[in-house]
Amino acid sequence: MLKRIDLRGGVSDPRRLLPRAQLDVSVAVERIRPLVEAVRDHGYPAIREASERFDGVCPPVLRVPAEAIAAAEGVLDPDVRAALLESIARARRVHDDQRRTDHTTQVVPGGTVTERWVPVDRVGLYVPGGLAMYPSTVVMNVVPAQAAGVRSLVVASPPQQDNGGLPDARVLAACALLGVDEVYAVGGAQAVAMLAYGSTVDAEGTRRCAPVDMITGPGNIWVTAAKRLLRGVVGIDAEAGPTEIAVLADDTADPTHVAADLISQAEHDPLAASVLVTPSVELADAVDRELARQVPATKHAERVGTALGGEQSGVVLVDDLADGLRVVDAYAAEHLEIQTRDARDWALRVRNAGAIFVGPWAPVSLGDYCAGSNHVLPTGGCARHSSGLSVQSFLRGVHLVEYTREALRDVAPHVVTLATVEDLPAHGQAVAVRFAGEAS
Ligand code: NAD
Repeated sequence: MLKRIDLRGGVSDPRRLLPRAQLDVSVAVERIRPLVEAVRDHGYPAIREASERFDGVCPPVLRVPAEAIAAAEGVLDPDVRAALLESIARARRVHDDQRRTDHTTQVVPGGTVTERWVPVDRVGLYVPGGLAMYPSTVVMNVVPAQAAGVRSLVVASPPQQDNGGLPDARVLAACALLGVDEVYAVGGAQAVAMLAYGSTVDAEGTRRCAPVDMITGPGNIWVTAAKRLLRGVVGIDAEAGPTEIAVLADDTADPTHVAADLISQAEHDPLAASVLVTPSVELADAVDRELARQVPATKHAERVGTALGGEQSGVVLVDDLADGLRVVDAYAAEHLEIQTRDARDWALRVRNAGAIFVGPWAPVSLGDYCAGSNHVLPTGGCARHSSGLSVQSFLRGVHLVEYTREALRDVAPHVVTLATVEDLPAHGQAVAVRFAGEAS
């Protein structure tokens, strides 16, 4: 079922040989550009047209009424409530620990730089809702933003035909559990554009969604493309697109578990990627047999089969685990599982991954819901330079520079020299003028 890429015998640059989707985000950017510009220029009518086309429904007012949010919580299944509360409690433990404190460095006597951590004022949190519903993503977006001290939180999630054009009821209930009351029934690129530019949200043009300063959250390729297009108009967390799992495994791994984990991420999206990296041909064969057994029995067998059979998925055969490590570093997976002997030692040597799941008892599904870690993670190789969502994502470091007269006078000649060498003499003058008439 999974195609094989044989890198045994050594390859100097494995990155170009690894499985990755050809439906490039940059291609998707050009497809959604007219839609984003229409939302910027026309607001609600453009959103309605896109929602009707892609979601099959659009409510007359996009902002979800407070009563609907409360009602969704009122009818929430008790088991789902308990699971969400557990997920929230564990995520809070981890994210509260990530809070940063202001720090002052004494550079010289009389000269200090203080780093103040200031939360972003208003944030738009995208919660997907196309092929699957994601109340868990409400938790993963909202908990770090609240821990960071963000004052204004907005959630956007696609309108659902089976919920009268409102977002999924479990998504609304999760918003209620977390105390979020500004929620919009809009998804896809049109949601990202609405949050970035601000927009009318009803047919009369009387109600508005104010623009946000930053947008976070995962989504499909269209959401990811809109985030890339609007980076700069607003702050963007990272590209958290169609999900990916890579498993680095040796002959100690249980093929039943490995296959189940590969399937679990393939079920997100036909564009999801599942990659096994192993030196063991026996394990690769056993995983193939397990996939043949497990895939037909899974609920979303067609979607899973498309994802596993796609160009973005496969088994990569390597000579040994050290080569496997080079391959997973080159791939930079959103989720990386290490199912080997001495799994922790190998995990600590990994350089590039969104999150690492160590050993047989930490499957990615645990991280999706209840590990306490965040599940909004960089995809498409972005783990080489970006992190998953955290409290830090919502903070800006602002330097407070404080110098006494004496401390400035001491360093003034250096400032003047550097200003002169850059041919910006007014910079030097701005310092020198403060000490005019004094002997240097
Ligand atoms: P979604 O909300 O991301 O996308 C649905 C929206 O896509 C719809 O509202 C519609 O407006 C838009 N759309 C659909 N077809 C379109 C088209 N042809 N052109 C333009 N817009 C179109 O929900 P989804 O589809 O279920 O995708 C969720 C994605 O989120 C999955 O790929 C999943 O893997 C990913 N995910 C990623 C992470 C992460 O951290 N990386 C976490 C959770 C989920």
